[in-house]
Amino acid sequence: MSRPLRVAIVGAGPAGIYAADALLKSEVAAEPGVSVDLFERMPAPFGLIRYGVAPDHPRIKGIITALHQVLDKPQIRLFGNVDYPNDITLDDLRAFYDAVVFSTGATADRALPIPGVELDGSYGAADFVSWYDGHPDVPRTWPLTADKVAVLGVGNVALDVARILAKTADELLPTEIPANVYEGLKANRAKEIHVFGRRGPAQAKFSPMELRELDHSPSIEVIVDPEDIDYDEGSIATRRGNKQADMVAKTLENWAIRDVGDRPHKLFLHFFESPVEILGEDGKVVGLRTERTALDGTGNVKGTGEFKDWDLGAVYRAVGYLSDALPKLPWDEATGTVPDEGGRVIENGEHLQSTYVTGWIRRGPIGLIGHTKGDANETVANLLDDHANGRLHTPASPAPEAVEDFLAQRRVRYTTWDGWYRLDAAEKALGEPQGRERVKIVEREDMLRASEA
Ligand SMILES: Cc1cc2nc3c(=O)[nH]c(=O)nc-3n(C[C@H](O)[C@H](O)[C@H](O)COP(=O)(O)OP(=O)(O)OC[C@H]3O[C@@H](n4cnc5c(N)ncnc54)[C@H](O)[C@@H]3O)c2cc1C
Repeated sequence: MSRPLRVAIVGAGPAGIYAADALLKSEVAAEPGVSVDLFERMPAPFGLIRYGVAPDHPRIKGIITALHQVLDKPQIRLFGNVDYPNDITLDDLRAFYDAVVFSTGATADRALPIPGVELDGSYGAADFVSWYDGHPDVPRTWPLTADKVAVLGVGNVALDVARILAKTADELLPTEIPANVYEGLKANRAKEIHVFGRRGPAQAKFSPMELRELDHSPSIEVIVDPEDIDYDEGSIATRRGNKQADMVAKTLENWAIRDVGDRPHKLFLHFFESPVEILGEDGKVVGLRTERTALDGTGNVKGTGEFKDWDLGAVYRAVGYLSDALPKLPWDEATGTVPDEGGRVIENGEHLQSTYVTGWIRRGPIGLIGHTKGDANETVANLLDDHANGRLHTPASPAPEAVEDFLAQRRVRYTTWDGWYRLDAAEKALGEPQGRERVKIVEREDMLRASEA
């Protein structure tokens, strides 16, 4: 093949961008060349780095700067504000590209099957995260009227949600939060935040650094009940074999034995409390029922039959993210992922020719941004192996202009990588008079206009 290898990547989050990077670092990139087009449904790239990572984590948000170096490469084009399959279908992509990589990540909340989840005041963490991170497709207001709030789950997303609920609006003002989020947080009445985990300190999925960070806020008093510190053989083995789990457990132990201070917002970390029902009155959340659990020797827990009702005005379910099935691709309901082998999409036991997956849509919604890099490398290695062995299909219209013509004919109002620079500059300009690095532009139309200006 004398022309460059043409690859489409659907989803410009970290996994998609790392896949593009791996393609351009490959031997094929030197000769005969690789050209990559990224299709992204949002007007801006970066996926959950922009719309998931908490605003008070500027260091993590800063990964965007490193990803710039990838997207700056002339062999990569960005087509933002383009949705698969509404704006471009799999057949369309096949007409233009030798291979298609899907890296569409995860956006929704995993279901929590307990009574009361439908009550007013029971919220999915993903929806709240989308609100405070200024996602264009969610409502602009968020009801923060409850003074006592529960967060269900003991992972980093639960910590993010609890921390944002417990911090003052002014603590978050130096970040990139948009004006509507600042106003919303100013009205927040939460004074007590209760985080619930059904297992123990050794089983918590927090990152040690994220956990310790809770204690850095002058408005948050972190409280752990000494009775919630318990280990069995399984827990001890976990701590021995997993340094992170051990560090988390040590931090929790230290917090359990110290005196409670007088910072205004109390953040309780409860363990061995399994949420069994969200309690309601007149359709609204008024509390949470939990069952006390106990370790069974293996690190798992069993119910003790001892129940407790907590008086709370809102419940945030942070029990995991969920990916959307992708039309025309096989789907594994049990794992919520596209079935694959080494990133090759598998349908009825066969590789769906020229079709690949990477990132959270492949592995499930677990792991940090850095983990998507290894994943992308593996997928790309297999794609290139298929290329080297003549297993890719041949597209009908591989010329790079063909897809631009197609989108123009379809009247898709797409953004570009140059457009991101304009949006980026517009957000920085918004922040400048307030001495802030940036203020996020929220509305899709405003994002499009800033990108196009
Ligand atoms: C709330 C939260 C906080 C987090 N905080 C951290 C943190 O502090 N540090 C850390 O290292 N990791 C953090 N993570 C994890 C990190 O975000 C993920 O590891 C990473 O984003 C997964 O990358 P991805 O590219 O697979 O998916 P995503 O980041 O979800 O990217 C997928 C992209 O595909 C696009 N897309 C989806 N569907 C379509 C479609 N149909 N057509 C076109 N485009 C589509 C999406 O808009 C998105 O841009 C956090 C995750 C969450 C949920």
